[in-house]
Amino acid sequence: MMPMLPHLLTALALVQAPAEPAAAQQPYFQQDVAYRIEARLDDEAEVLHGRARMRYTNRSPDTLDTLYFHLHLNAFRPNSAWARRELEFGERRFQDLGPDDHAFQRIRSVTVEGRPATPLYPGAPDSTVVAIPLAAPLAPGESVTVDFDWDARPSTLPRRQGRRGRHYDFAHWFPIVAVYDRSGWAVRPHLPQGEFYGEFMDFDVTLDVAADQVIGATGVPVEGDPGWAAAAAPGWADSIDYRRDVYGTPGAAERLGLLEATPGTGRKQVRWLARDVHNFAWSTSPDYIYEGGRWRDLAIHVLYKPGDDDWANGQALNRTRTALAWLDSIFGPFAWPQITNVHRIEGGGTEFPMLVMNGSASLGLILHEVGHNYVMGILANNEWKEGFLDEGLTTFQTNWYHQTHGQPDIWDRSFQAMAAWERAGRSQPLVTHSADFRDFQTYNQMTYTKPAVVYRMLQAYLGDERFGAGLRRYYEQNKLRHVTLADFQRAMEEASGEDLDWFFDQWFRTTATLDYAVRSATTERQDDGTWTTTVVVERTGEAWMPVTLEVDGVRQRLTSRDRVQTVEVVTPERPSEAVLDPETVVLDTDRENNRRPID
Ligand SMILES: [Zn+2]
Repeated sequence: MMPMLPHLLTALALVQAPAEPAAAQQPYFQQDVAYRIEARLDDEAEVLHGRARMRYTNRSPDTLDTLYFHLHLNAFRPNSAWARRELEFGERRFQDLGPDDHAFQRIRSVTVEGRPATPLYPGAPDSTVVAIPLAAPLAPGESVTVDFDWDARPSTLPRRQGRRGRHYDFAHWFPIVAVYDRSGWAVRPHLPQGEFYGEFMDFDVTLDVAADQVIGATGVPVEGDPGWAAAAAPGWADSIDYRRDVYGTPGAAERLGLLEATPGTGRKQVRWLARDVHNFAWSTSPDYIYEGGRWRDLAIHVLYKPGDDDWANGQALNRTRTALAWLDSIFGPFAWPQITNVHRIEGGGTEFPMLVMNGSASLGLILHEVGHNYVMGILANNEWKEGFLDEGLTTFQTNWYHQTHGQPDIWDRSFQAMAAWERAGRSQPLVTHSADFRDFQTYNQMTYTKPAVVYRMLQAYLGDERFGAGLRRYYEQNKLRHVTLADFQRAMEEASGEDLDWFFDQWFRTTATLDYAVRSATTERQDDGTWTTTVVVERTGEAWMPVTLEVDGVRQRLTSRDRVQTVEVVTPERPSEAVLDPETVVLDTDRENNRRPID
């Protein structure tokens, strides 16, 4: 089914739990994970040394004999699954990165309950997945402690992470435990198509960096100086909201022995806490400029670079506020105490819990990435299985914002682009796993554009009120949990009181296309002076949707699945035109045949 990397898939398949088609019927659980991390960034040698202690409690009904971790930085180096995937498409970006430039994440030692363990790399030479065999099986309810020493370095060619001079975007940097859920271990090499999936975890992280570094991170700084006050733009030093006590008064940090109790000359240590997040990311640069404030009781931190005219003077800060207010209005209250928006090295943007790394300060990008803090962050889906749940929904909500704020026609372009794509027969089912899309463009269309259009169709079908209630229900029922398409459908069905299998099956699970056409439209004057127009509507595609027919301002919703429907519409004056789907809320592959002058 999947042409790439058959050996790796075989290796990983061996370690996965047996296929469980009935996974959704099993009771939900999520594992209990806490990390204590000490890390020192040597920005002369351009390497981070880390030590982590992870406590893992098995809340699943299964006994585990191995724990799996991801070392995502190892994607950005020669011979990784990522680099070899790029080779298949004629790209050599990471395959050709030299020894000083590629990323790495290298485990120096690992112990389980204090005893040395041997890391295994089932996808070698790719090393983004590492298996740690347990000395004793971990029964349901039992806990185990795993200690790592490792070194890490982002790549100079940035991709979802990066380094340039003394600026580091540490999106990935520590051995992060893979998700064990109702489908078993969710392990996959990190690839260009598809992103992440994480366990909800608590973090207690002490970073030891050069004293002039300015840091933005997941979590709140509870001890030490992240550098914001010294880096504040003129007038912004007084508005810094550290929120140091948001998790109560923290006890002394557990010492792991990598860092001295007091930082060395020219160094500083900053301790961060974060709860209920599935990653801990951070970015640091001595050049960052700080601006910050609040939205309601939520702290906002913005870190930008000299010359960033589009970020400065509260612009990025205010757009972050705009995004938070919008998202609060459609989903509900944010689940975490702060959000940090940093100007990363790479263009585009990538989302992390409580942290967005953005290449620009455009409102669209901020809406998209802060939106991901809801969909993917707080509602944590598996992004390489169901990327449409986060990328599609955040693309949808961003368009929705623009539609209601001065760009009423914004959907037309998406529907047109998608119709052309569907006409060309290029769609694959949205539920396709990300790596199985035939190429990167298809992955993008099926993960961002088409699902956004599909959510728009659902919104138009249910109406704003029922759809809005469904979104809020989806959030309220599932926040800080792993989510699937089934959870989204259930929330929409409960909120709307309708069985929506017909909709979700067609638009998420098949490539059925839809085409309604006005085959004929004739009118006749009645004795009372009104006009009765007889319209024959034909459906040629496999898919169907309730569709609106408009005859000179008089609208009728056609709800039949019939191939041919004959409809009568009465108008006071002689009508001139019959139009199907006048508002463009149905993904109709051919809109040319949607209008017809009336004979
Ligand atoms: Zn996105």
